[in-house]
Amino acid sequence: MSPKKLSLPTMNDWVAALIREHRVFGPQAKGDRFAYDLLGCAADLRLDHDVTILPPRKYLMPPTEVLITFTRSGKFESVMEGEPLVLFGVHPYDVAAIAQMDRYFTQDHADSHYLARRKKVTIVACDVQSASENVFAACMGTATVPDGFDVLLTLVGETYVVESRTAAGDALLALAGVLEDADAVSLGRREQLWMDAQKLLRRQNLRCRVEDLPGLLDRSYEHPAWRQKSELCFSCGSCVMVCPSCFCFDVQDEVGWDLVSGERRRQWDGCLLTQFACVAGGHNFRRLREERYRHRFYRKGKYLHDRCGFVACVGCGRCAAACTSGIASPVALYNSLLEDQ
Ligand code: SF4
Ligand code: SF4
Repeated sequence: MSPKKLSLPTMNDWVAALIREHRVFGPQAKGDRFAYDLLGCAADLRLDHDVTILPPRKYLMPPTEVLITFTRSGKFESVMEGEPLVLFGVHPYDVAAIAQMDRYFTQDHADSHYLARRKKVTIVACDVQSASENVFAACMGTATVPDGFDVLLTLVGETYVVESRTAAGDALLALAGVLEDADAVSLGRREQLWMDAQKLLRRQNLRCRVEDLPGLLDRSYEHPAWRQKSELCFSCGSCVMVCPSCFCFDVQDEVGWDLVSGERRRQWDGCLLTQFACVAGGHNFRRLREERYRHRFYRKGKYLHDRCGFVACVGCGRCAAACTSGIASPVALYNSLLEDQ
């Protein structure tokens, strides 16, 4: 569908119509911060949010979910959870992170539980209107995204330019009624906004190109920064729990009180947590904080890149905001590795 214009009152009516027809989750104010939650009315939607506390991945891969149920007699049944929903107002860097998850969960072995949820999600992306203090999405190539969404909204002055890319997006936009085609002035302003985003979303500046990160890590395994910074680490795991491009999980069987039935669950896990690399017999492959701290950056900047072709960081800056020790920022870490090159 060609780009359309959506005035602010029409936008409000459209969101209200969506809420009547669908379960719509969008960024809302929570004190002086923002979080995704179910929208009860259009007025609660805050498309001017800088960043949400948790990324929208919680709707695609919830903190805990049942994979199968089983009984002692050996019967088991796969559980495919997930209801149709609309994720509204997703920033481009989070769209990019969802695209990474799609890739990761379909490469080699398709994860049917993830895909069952993913297929029921329609994404309405929104270009960033205010940048958070720690954002460096422009350094990671995710300040704007060309695809990965069903609908894209861009505020240009007093109106939105809205563009649908999929049949699911068309269906959502049909609820807005008949819309005017976006004129050349609005489209020009959108182009300008995309160019400006390359500066706006560089509040922290990475002093190398994203494609240089795997090589930088290759040369830096013994760098003193790992030890120096990790001495302040509490192993709290906050940096990985808030990350849109972290998707490690643990799987555990829980047997019911009747000792007859049970369920297999998966739940978020994180490589900064002490037990993450602990195996049967009690051996921990990354016993030291320094090893766990270093692993997080290697996993994101090199190992996943070698396997899947992307650096698993989209520059949202959530980890830097979540770390009480001030040591989780990828920009600060990579820049300190660069100092000694
Ligand atoms: S590592 Fe930090 S900045 Fe990068 S995507 Fe994760 S939370 Fe965002
Ligand atoms: S780097 Fe910071 S947020 Fe991450 S585990 Fe250590 S103290 Fe917690």
